[in-house]
Amino acid sequence: METHLYYDVVIVGAGVSGLYTALHLSKKKNILMICKESLNECDSMLAQGGICVMRDEDDYDDFVEDTMRAGHYENRKDSVKIMVQSSRNIINELLDLGVDFEKNPDGSLKYTKEGAHSKPRICYYKDITGKEITETLQEHVKKMHNVIIMEHVIMKDLLIENEKCCGIVAESSEQEKIVYYIHAKDTVLATGGIGGLYEHTTNYSCLTGDALAIAKKHGIRLENLDYVQIHPTTLYQEKKGRSFLISESVRGEGAVLLNSKGERFVDELLPRDVVTKRIYEEMEKENSRWVWLSFKNIPSNVIIEHFPNIYRTCLEAGYDIMTESIPVVPAQHYFMGGIYVDSDSKTTMEHLYAVGETSCNGVHGRNRLASNSLLESLVFARRAADRIEKE
Ligand SMILES: Cc1cc2nc3c(=O)[nH]c(=O)nc-3n(C[C@H](O)[C@H](O)[C@H](O)COP(=O)(O)OP(=O)(O)OC[C@H]3O[C@@H](n4cnc5c(N)ncnc54)[C@H](O)[C@@H]3O)c2cc1C
Repeated sequence: METHLYYDVVIVGAGVSGLYTALHLSKKKNILMICKESLNECDSMLAQGGICVMRDEDDYDDFVEDTMRAGHYENRKDSVKIMVQSSRNIINELLDLGVDFEKNPDGSLKYTKEGAHSKPRICYYKDITGKEITETLQEHVKKMHNVIIMEHVIMKDLLIENEKCCGIVAESSEQEKIVYYIHAKDTVLATGGIGGLYEHTTNYSCLTGDALAIAKKHGIRLENLDYVQIHPTTLYQEKKGRSFLISESVRGEGAVLLNSKGERFVDELLPRDVVTKRIYEEMEKENSRWVWLSFKNIPSNVIIEHFPNIYRTCLEAGYDIMTESIPVVPAQHYFMGGIYVDSDSKTTMEHLYAVGETSCNGVHGRNRLASNSLLESLVFARRAADRIEKE
């Protein structure tokens, strides 16, 4: 069966970048959002560590420098500046929407630290920051009368006329397939990362870079396709499927990496790619499939309050992090490359935008600084919405 649908904007993907775009488009526009599986099956729900913010004006240079250094200075500096300058407004807006970031007794935001940050500047909610932000955004978008969300609908192609994008072709994933021709003035690709293509990944398996393949087919510019981030620490398990991430903020709070002799072999707070390389070297030296992560320097009340999800999941896997080290191994985690976009998230095709992990606005360079991706997704999703409104 085939059907034609007509909207002002179609947003492909319902993680933070898709949701935030919808939230910032005019209420007068009819908007359709689709997602491949259920609404909650997106990486945004999995983010543990938190979301960065420029602490104050004095932090501006340091935040830019930390992001550039982690990215091996291959970042587009203008994009980095935009992200850092916009960060406080984004956090304030999330607070206004009801996101419950951790606070100090005087009501100010509590910050945590992760690798390659020169100071604590990460806002967080326990170790489930992504779930807290995503569910809050979902709640607001679901209340918008001009937005329809369709789950289990998969984008298969773009609709193109005179070299301009005018919507998408999609298919329902039910047994009796419906093919949707979704006509829209503007199309936003918010399809997340590529982890589903890997055997070991922290990502949802449905994230297979579909938008990238479609963009390539139509000659839309892509960038840095080989810039894939491997996260140094996921829980080593024999079972197949998504690897459980052990957030970098546990190392920020004092967890240390050990070899089989119980010796430290790396500064745990170096950038992710450097720590990953050292872990692989140590694994090779010891002919082991993992190294160990010890939580012994983290007080038990901090484990319970800050890392309840990690504590519980490790217990379920048979490890009590209060008393023993856990085996960890690097896994595919994040894609720095993507569909090339300008600083308003516009692709090289008219009326086609890309936001979030599927896009490449150059913020991350060759390696993403921890907790910069939720922020980058929100900043540039908002800019896409503003640009669509202006055109
Ligand atoms: C375990 C884990 C921990 C993380 N921790 C942090 C952290 O602490 N801080 C931080 O900043 N970042 C973190 N990240 C990264 C961050 O979560 C993601 O980069 C970000 O959430 C991506 O958002 P998104 O909207 O681009 O994509 P997603 O949230 O992944 O959403 C993608 C959407 O696209 C849809 N989709 C995909 N293909 C199609 C298709 N063909 N048709 C229709 N729909 C499609 C999916 O169904 C989904 O709705 C973490 C990531 C993981 C995996």
